Amino acid sequence: MRFLVTGGAGFLGTALANKLTKDGHTVYVLDDLSNGNATYLLPQIQFIRGDVDDIPLLWSLLPDVDCVYHLAARVSVAQSILYPRDYSRVNVGGTVSLMEAMRDTGVKRVVFASSGAIYGFQAEQPVHENDKPNPDSPYAVSKWAAEQYIHTIGELWGIETVALRIFNAYGPHQSLPISHAPVIPRFLQQVLTGGSVVVFGNGRQTRDFVYITDVVTALVTAANAKEVNRKIINIGSGSETSLNELVEILQQASGHSANIIHNQQKSGGVPRLVADISRARLLLGYQPMVNLNDGLRQLLAEDERFAQYTS
Ligand code: NAD
Repeated sequence: MRFLVTGGAGFLGTALANKLTKDGHTVYVLDDLSNGNATYLLPQIQFIRGDVDDIPLLWSLLPDVDCVYHLAARVSVAQSILYPRDYSRVNVGGTVSLMEAMRDTGVKRVVFASSGAIYGFQAEQPVHENDKPNPDSPYAVSKWAAEQYIHTIGELWGIETVALRIFNAYGPHQSLPISHAPVIPRFLQQVLTGGSVVVFGNGRQTRDFVYITDVVTALVTAANAKEVNRKIINIGSGSETSLNELVEILQQASGHSANIIHNQQKSGGVPRLVADISRARLLLGYQPMVNLNDGLRQLLAEDERFAQYTS
């Protein structure tokens, strides 16, 4: 098959594009490199630097594509609070442009990388796809709006659409910006370099950490699965881990011990978030294969930024 992966030079996109290529498919990657790095892409992949909002560029790329993976997005919750317009332009506007260009060129299916952040605070856990979204950031709103646009435009024009709500993915080469980095690479960096681990809130807040290879397996399956049209599907590990537990496991996996500081001034986000993955099991035959312990060990071994401290 021929795939276009938008955002394919990012953390999840690179792993997906490389897996599809290894499986024998033809892969194009479109990425503006605002947060990506094309050097980890396999050489057979055709990389195009550009904006997902560029309709003429999309027209030139899409005509022979069988399925689009739409991953291009601004991805920081904290940044979205400061720059909501940019999050709306890229995550919503870019998605609508993509759908319009898919309509114009007759592409059959899109798999959208949505987010568990859409759920926000939910009294009942684990969260199920039928729970009413309660987004608490412009990022979460933008992903929810993008889901709605994808399914609505898909319905109007006969394009197959599926949205995977990914929870806290982690793995090699996840970006580690100076501020507001995702929690696993940030904690790892702090543990490995001998600094203190700074936990926001009381550390009892829980998240669902899912290893990158499990997310990629779900994405790959979604391109050809039969009963997924117009569906929203949670992709997590189904296991709930508190940030305090995460720091413990990180110390064990890395063999380094750390000083832990709790910053109660800063919100640690919603108190609990864990995915009900029964729909993914049913529709995608999804089964998470890598538990947190093993995933962290793989991450430490495969990411050269961290491997230097453990070898
Ligand atoms: P990432 O930042 O590494 O990847 C996103 C990519 O999109 C980057 O390479 C960036 O350069 C590119 N991009 C941004 N704006 C663009 C634009 N206007 N045009 C073209 N490319 C653009 O982040 P990621 O963690 O790999 O996330 C990929 C997707 O999965 C995103 O849509 C994100 O919302 C979603 N997601 C990720 C997680 C996670 O835990 N990593 C969880 C839920 C959802």
